[in-house]
Amino acid sequence: MSADTGPDLPRLTVALTFDHDAISDSVRRGDPPVKLSHAEFGPRVGVPRSCELLERERIPATWFVPGHSSQTFPASIELILRGDSELACHGWFHEDFSTIPADEQRRILHRSIEEVVRLTGRPPKGFRAPYWALGSETLDLVADAGFVYDSSLMADDYRLYRVRRGDRHSVEHGTSFGREGPLIEVPVYWAMDDWPHFEPGTGKDGLSTPSQVLEIWLGELRYAYDHAPGGLVMVTMHPECIGRGHRMAMLERFIGEAKGLDGLVFARLEAVVERFQPGSS
Ligand SMILES: [Zn+2]
Repeated sequence: MSADTGPDLPRLTVALTFDHDAISDSVRRGDPPVKLSHAEFGPRVGVPRSCELLERERIPATWFVPGHSSQTFPASIELILRGDSELACHGWFHEDFSTIPADEQRRILHRSIEEVVRLTGRPPKGFRAPYWALGSETLDLVADAGFVYDSSLMADDYRLYRVRRGDRHSVEHGTSFGREGPLIEVPVYWAMDDWPHFEPGTGKDGLSTPSQVLEIWLGELRYAYDHAPGGLVMVTMHPECIGRGHRMAMLERFIGEAKGLDGLVFARLEAVVERFQPGSS
């Protein structure tokens, strides 16, 4: 039996996570002024608005922050750390880890760990791959760098799981699964991410009405509450996206509905992962 179904667990946990990408990827790509300004909306408006909501609702959150964002926008970090929030890693310039060599990935991971230590005095527990893009060796490097959890894979929804090491897939020999390693996965999914719904040019819908997205997020919340006791519902958001007024109103409604469910708690991912560990290997 997984620790996630133990008797002392809340009926359902909700984790609000924010990827504070800001202009990190625009700088790496050399984006023109309008794209840079779209990204700047995050630290300029989205982060203060999100932090104010979290503070007003007394909700903890997890922030995945590229090193360039924390160094360029220290006021954001001050606001985030003033609340009951966790800092986790998200690359330096929001790199696509599936396209860069292993030694460069390793260097970025260690540099971003050092940045979180500088800001909080302790190493981060979590990593989320920018673009949820991983090379075949990336999660081994993430585990070896000392991270406790990753949040970039999609093999489950309301349950955490151990990442396997050494899976082999080939057309000639088929598939052989490796063994579970130490890294814990907190699974993600596009439907629970604000970006593909709301931002144009992502190859999906873009500019959805908040009512459509709220229907999806509440559908997940209520299904998990009824069918996955002890489970987790995680939402992925970006301040430059969720921070627009009509979307903040949607997030407020989502939080309000969640708070109306008996036995539901909000938690940082590091706390969710900590309680998964005993007896779950
Ligand atoms: Zn990101």
